Amino acid sequence: GGTIGILGGGQLGRMMAIAAAQMGYRCIAYTPESEHVVGDVCHDVFTNKWDDAQAMAAFAQKCDIVTWEFENVPVGPLAPIEDRLAPHPRALETAQDRLNEKRFVEGLGGRPAPYATVDSRAELMQAVERIGTPGILKTRRDGYDGKGQWRITSERDAEGVSLPDVPCIYEGFVRFEAEFSVILARTAAREVAFWDSTVNVHEGGMLATSTLPPGDLIEGEVAEARELAKQVAEALNYVGVLTLEFFATKQGPVFNEMAPRVHNSGHWTIEGAATSQFENHIRAVCGLPLGDSRTVAPGVVMTNIVGKDANEAAHWLDDPATHLHLYGKTKARKGRKMGHATKLVWD
Ligand code: ATP
Ligand code: MG
Ligand code: MG
Repeated sequence: GGTIGILGGGQLGRMMAIAAAQMGYRCIAYTPESEHVVGDVCHDVFTNKWDDAQAMAAFAQKCDIVTWEFENVPVGPLAPIEDRLAPHPRALETAQDRLNEKRFVEGLGGRPAPYATVDSRAELMQAVERIGTPGILKTRRDGYDGKGQWRITSERDAEGVSLPDVPCIYEGFVRFEAEFSVILARTAAREVAFWDSTVNVHEGGMLATSTLPPGDLIEGEVAEARELAKQVAEALNYVGVLTLEFFATKQGPVFNEMAPRVHNSGHWTIEGAATSQFENHIRAVCGLPLGDSRTVAPGVVMTNIVGKDANEAAHWLDDPATHLHLYGKTKARKGRKMGHATKLVWD
């Protein structure tokens, strides 16, 4: 038993709290959002601003351990509660800035797409000249689900794109065969477990489906990608669930980005693995041994339910092999993740 604090109030926190409750823990959440989805699974929800260090400290006081489900929590106010945090906030610091993240991973032998920092039009033009088109201009911080990204297909595009008023990075477009992720859990005792890598299909920058088995190309690249992910986890002395996203290319895995948290491409593990990413994250941050992460069915398909309300999602229940998850969001706005459906494929 004990109280787990969760920073963030989205569906990842909701599913984490459900896993924690099953194991006898009580969760409380901290989020500045009034539209959170953790109210019915957490004992209490603190709705304060991220930079309110006093509120953050009061929250941590009530917890035996504090973790996060949101990767853009400002790290400043976390310093005073560092001894209660898992993973260590250095993982947030590394992953919150795409430039830091790429340099860090390159330092461990990972290969990202060619990139250049862009803080002005002149730098964008230089980057496009050096790296070429097509490419993607991304804000260095705060992006998710493809937000804060602009496709650049020509020099004229680069001249015309309206530059955001924040530091950016320009990346060469990777002509990938497929996308996959490596999700691992690591404990303070240095135990590491990997889940199988799904093939991930994105639509408009947002994950649409994750599927197992992932096919030969990805299966051939997983060992190298896992090795890098393990090095990243070790270098950060990481405790909890960590995700690295990759492009599978004929030249091997190209590192896209990391997420120091449970991940949308791991939702299938709730029914599709012996132990889910959420349960193993809770186990790791609570100092417990990891559960078996192996896949339990020959095939799995996880589909995100985006912009559809409960009525529109109900058809997923027609297939008895499919598990429907709804996050309890009341307004089905366009592009909003409302739930997901996981189908176990037995033959
Ligand atoms: P997430 O919600 O995964 O954190 P994000 O906003 O951080 O998303 P990225 O992972 O950088 O976005 O990009 C989203 C998707 O856009 C990728 O999964 C991929 O499909 C495509 N993409 C991004 N960068 C590149 C690239 N350099 N080359 C080819 N495709 C890319
Ligand atoms: Mg991202
Ligand atoms: Mg991504």
